[in-house]
Amino acid sequence: MVPSSAPLSLSAGLNADLHCHSTVSDGTQSPEWLAQHAHDNGVELWALTDHDEVGGIARARAAALALGLPFLAGVEISITWADKTVHIVGLGVDEQNPTLVEGLRRTRGGREARARDMAAQLAQAGIPGAFEGALHYVDNPDLISRSHFARFLVERGICKDMGDVFHHYLTEGKPGFVPHRWASLEDAVGWIRGAGGIAVIAHPARYGFPPLQEDALFDQFCALGGEGVEVVTGSHTPDECLRYRDRALASHLLASRGSDFHSPRESRLDLGTLPPLDAHLTPVWQRLASRIALPEGRVLA
Ligand code: AMP
Ligand code: MN
Ligand code: MN
Ligand code: MN
Repeated sequence: MVPSSAPLSLSAGLNADLHCHSTVSDGTQSPEWLAQHAHDNGVELWALTDHDEVGGIARARAAALALGLPFLAGVEISITWADKTVHIVGLGVDEQNPTLVEGLRRTRGGREARARDMAAQLAQAGIPGAFEGALHYVDNPDLISRSHFARFLVERGICKDMGDVFHHYLTEGKPGFVPHRWASLEDAVGWIRGAGGIAVIAHPARYGFPPLQEDALFDQFCALGGEGVEVVTGSHTPDECLRYRDRALASHLLASRGSDFHSPRESRLDLGTLPPLDAHLTPVWQRLASRIALPEGRVLA
C-alpha cells in the first residue's frame, strides 16, 4: 500500500492496532516484519506492546516511520492481582523513562528460574528437555515465556496447537504451571503514567473474574490513575466486546483496540483486521495525540 499523506484523523473508526508482540518477547516475528505487515494490512496507527520489555520500540518506530505508518510506543506489563496474573498495557510511554525501564527489568527477573521450575515439573510428567526445547524459540534470553514452552510442546507432537497446550499444560492445576509474583497494579499504572503514557486493562474477559471481583479490579485501577480498557481485542468474542463497550461507557474509560498478534501461524486475528470501535466510545488514541510519532510531513487532522 502507498503511505497515506492525508492528515491523520483520530476518529473512533481509525484502523488502530495497539497490541502485538515481537521476538523481543513471545512473538515469532521481528519488529520490522510487524511494521511492514501492519502497513500492508492497512493499519493507520500501530503500537508494539511486548511483554515487560521495551527493547523493540526503537526498531519498531524506525521501521513504521520509514513506511509512513504513525506509531505509539507500548508495553504489556504482567502484574499479580488477587493472586492472579493480569496484563496492563501502557500506550504512549517514553520507553527511555528510567523508572519504567528499571521496573520492567525487575519484572523480567525471575523468568529464568520460573522456566527451570516449569521444565522440572514437565520432566516429572514425562516430558524431559523442555527448558532447552523452549530456549530454542527464545530470542531475548531475558524473556522466556510460557509461549516458548508451548511451541516446544507443539513441535514435539505432545499437543496439536497452542490452545491445546494451555488446555492441558502450563495453566493452574496442570503440569508445568509455576505460580509467579509479578509487579503490583500500583507499580504498573505508576510506571506507565510516570513515563507519560496511558494505562489500559488488557483483554479483561480473559481473567474469568466473578463480577464483584472484576468491579474491584476496575475500581482500584481507576483509583490509581488507570484510564483505559481494551474493548476490541483478538482475545474477546463479539459478546465480550459488547460487554466491555458497556463497561467503558458506564465507567467513562477510554477504549482501546488491538489484535494481540503473536504469530502468523498461531494468532486467531491478523494485525489490523479487528472490528472497529463503537462510535460512542472515546478511543484511547484521542488522548495520545501528543505521543504519536508521525512520519515526516504528516500532520494530525
Ligand atoms: P507468561 O508471560 O510466560 O506467563 O506467558 C503468557 C503468554 O502465554 C501470553 O502472553 C500468551 O501469549 C500465551 N498464552 C496464555 N494463555 C494462552 C492460551 N490459552 N492460548 C494461547 N496462548 C496463551
Ligand atoms: Mn504473549
Ligand atoms: Mn496479555
Ligand atoms: Mn499481549
